[in-house]
Amino acid sequence: MPNKYGVFAIALVVPLALGVALSARQAPADAALLAKAKAIHEKAITLDTHVDIGGADYATEKLDPGGPTSRKCDLPKMKAGGLDGVFLAAYVGQRPDLTAAGFKPAYNQAIAGLEAINRLTKMHPELCELGRSPADVERIAKTGKRVILAGVENGYPMGDDLANLKAFYDLGTRYMTLVHGSHNQLADSSGPAEPMHNGLSELGKKTVAEMNRLGMMVDLSHASAKSYWDAIATSKAPIIESHSGCKALSPNGRNLDDDQLKALAKNGGVIQIVALAAYLKAEPPERTAAIQALRTELGMGGRGGGGGRGAGGQSAQARGGTPPTPLTPEQQADADKRRAAYQERLKEIDAKYPFQSATLKDFVDHIDYAVKMAGIDHVGIGTDFDGGGGIPGFNDHSEALNVTVELVKRGYTEQQITKIWGGNLLRVWRDVEKAAKK
Ligand SMILES: [Zn+2]
Repeated sequence: MPNKYGVFAIALVVPLALGVALSARQAPADAALLAKAKAIHEKAITLDTHVDIGGADYATEKLDPGGPTSRKCDLPKMKAGGLDGVFLAAYVGQRPDLTAAGFKPAYNQAIAGLEAINRLTKMHPELCELGRSPADVERIAKTGKRVILAGVENGYPMGDDLANLKAFYDLGTRYMTLVHGSHNQLADSSGPAEPMHNGLSELGKKTVAEMNRLGMMVDLSHASAKSYWDAIATSKAPIIESHSGCKALSPNGRNLDDDQLKALAKNGGVIQIVALAAYLKAEPPERTAAIQALRTELGMGGRGGGGGRGAGGQSAQARGGTPPTPLTPEQQADADKRRAAYQERLKEIDAKYPFQSATLKDFVDHIDYAVKMAGIDHVGIGTDFDGGGGIPGFNDHSEALNVTVELVKRGYTEQQITKIWGGNLLRVWRDVEKAAKK
């Protein structure tokens, strides 16, 4: 039977069998259900709207995502999991100063990231191609190649010059996340407790208008609730949340509350559910406090953002930051001793405040909840792989089929699953293109 893989259909049987084996280990699914999920998964255009690329080595001989890597997203893993396309994000961290001195190097970093994304498609033209429109996505997916798409995470590198948006656009950028973990010149973040602009700044509003004009999706992941509402009021096209969760299930500051989710239906936008454990499931506060107290007692410092043990969060290193200086043998022995004591005492905390970090089931619970609040036309998937995302059952792209299996198990139809895996995002993108042409 002809499908989107065309002549590549046979080549896909083996990689997909890998996904089946993984899902079968996760939870035994009967053969009929699995066959149904596989058929839906192969036919749908499957997109992930948020994966990080990391540092300057990306798409060079040192780090070639065209072959197998230790990353959660590379072209072989995408193919094995039947994932058609991915938005790779050129993430730029920001400095506290919102001035030209900070903006200039950040702009250069964003351009370097976008060039790396373009370079990947030039290194492997037989395996992937850069998509610049929804029509491109559909055309490229049909050829059996992976669709590479570009986003910029954080508006900081744009500085105060709207013309920089055009430079991002010309390198393929089709969404920009207005703000990251700190307030910037465009918008308030969900990170700090105190607002800076009380939502979008005047420049932020002009930025949204310019993105509308260019046909670039406005991404509100990481933004404060007020920034979200301001963006919805300002944008003449639907908005996106490229990697977020539902606050009712996990009270993380960057997840959407029920009113925000309901507003997506009217706006026409989409929330792409994130697969980062700490955003999906909150650790009991008593447990967090007990672990922090123990770490302080042992002189171990903070835990660095994650909710589970080692899961979630984004380390400076994962983000391409400076690695720590090596320890002396004495320091190493001391650190090992403390670590052992920590592991031992952690058992007491585990017994008193048991906590199971988020899994595939929690991820799909967020999809269910968002569908209930916003409607089936306003929910998608944005993992945050290689930026802290990844959960048991959906820990890299080779496991993408597991999501479809779980959706089928929960009674979602083929049409609904096709919308979640990419149909909704493509609709929003088309609306953004239409608004730009007006
Ligand atoms: Zn992010």
